[in-house]
Amino acid sequence: EQRIVLAARPNGKPTGETFRYESFELTELKEGQVALESLYISVDPYMRGRMNDARSYSQPFEIDEPIHGGVVARVIESKSEGLKSGDVVVGMLDWATKVVVDAKTVRKIDEQIAPISTALGVLGMTGMTAYFGLLDIGNPQPGETVVVSAAAGAVGSIVGQIAKIKGARVVGIAGSDEKLQHLKADLGFDEVINYKTEDIREALDRTCPDGIDVYFENVGGEIGDAVLDRLNPFARVPVCGAISGYNAQQDIGPRVQSKLIIARARMQGFLVGDYGKRFKEAAEQLGQWVSEGKLQYEETIFEGFDRVPDAFLGLFDGSNTGKLLVKVK
Ligand code: NDP
Repeated sequence: EQRIVLAARPNGKPTGETFRYESFELTELKEGQVALESLYISVDPYMRGRMNDARSYSQPFEIDEPIHGGVVARVIESKSEGLKSGDVVVGMLDWATKVVVDAKTVRKIDEQIAPISTALGVLGMTGMTAYFGLLDIGNPQPGETVVVSAAAGAVGSIVGQIAKIKGARVVGIAGSDEKLQHLKADLGFDEVINYKTEDIREALDRTCPDGIDVYFENVGGEIGDAVLDRLNPFARVPVCGAISGYNAQQDIGPRVQSKLIIARARMQGFLVGDYGKRFKEAAEQLGQWVSEGKLQYEETIFEGFDRVPDAFLGLFDGSNTGKLLVKVK
């Protein structure tokens, strides 16, 4: 079998040197274990942080050890009561063609509800992130203006649609005209901004004449600065991510304190993992919106295990609309 290990810690943007493919032998199953064949591998921006040797909310990946993250897999052999051959599961698994793990570390997916890949997207970690960050921290009200950055990505595209369901006016910021077109025509965003071709400050003035009540922050940097200058009194800012800085070699901010005081705004970082006890509630609500056609989800799929590093790098070039996945099999 094949797996991908962290060959070297990247300095700045990851390169071909960052990853190494290795062959390995699958271990024998022990009682309580299952053998799994990977079907879909999720690539996620937070994984870049784990490639650094720095203390954070999750442990760094170890050099020469497999990289791991969200994977949807099929059971090919089982020595566990709860799972049988053919079942489809999701879990935090090695980037590998096959793995052997304790059955209790994975969760069985109901294949009837939606395509299995959604367990890594709208009905999985990224959907939960949008749901809790927007609703718990952003708390959008009807008629308010909600701005979301990385709006065509996995989290951002769900955030914008939930904000619309809640009756807000939604402005999305993304990096290509095709993405803007998709946000407006397919997902119902009210206004869109291409941060690569437009002056972000002018574009925000044009699209947010009444100021900004909720900013769902995915990117940080200059985009974040420009939005934070336009916060209305008592605005809320769920701080989900700051991808523009993930490959940066030096610290770039933040410079927000006086802006928060002037607007009496609330800015709060959050981790989707803290909402574990409420995942069921979110999965049910998201699933219902999907089945009612109120929530669309897009996926960008790279085909083949050999494309995993390319897919990961694609997150930083904006190669994806919606959730970026690798279809292994
Ligand atoms: P996305 O699907 O949104 O992919 C990343 C997108 O970011 C790209 O498609 C690209 O789109 C955009 N982007 C990349 N580089 C830049 C840049 N320098 N400036 C502006 N935009 C950029 O990924 P996710 O939805 O998985 O994640 C979105 C954010 O949410 C990330 O910051 C991530 O770390 C965070 N996150 C946080 C969680 C939490 O618990 N707090 C959980 C999950 C995700 P474009 O073409 O528009 O540039």
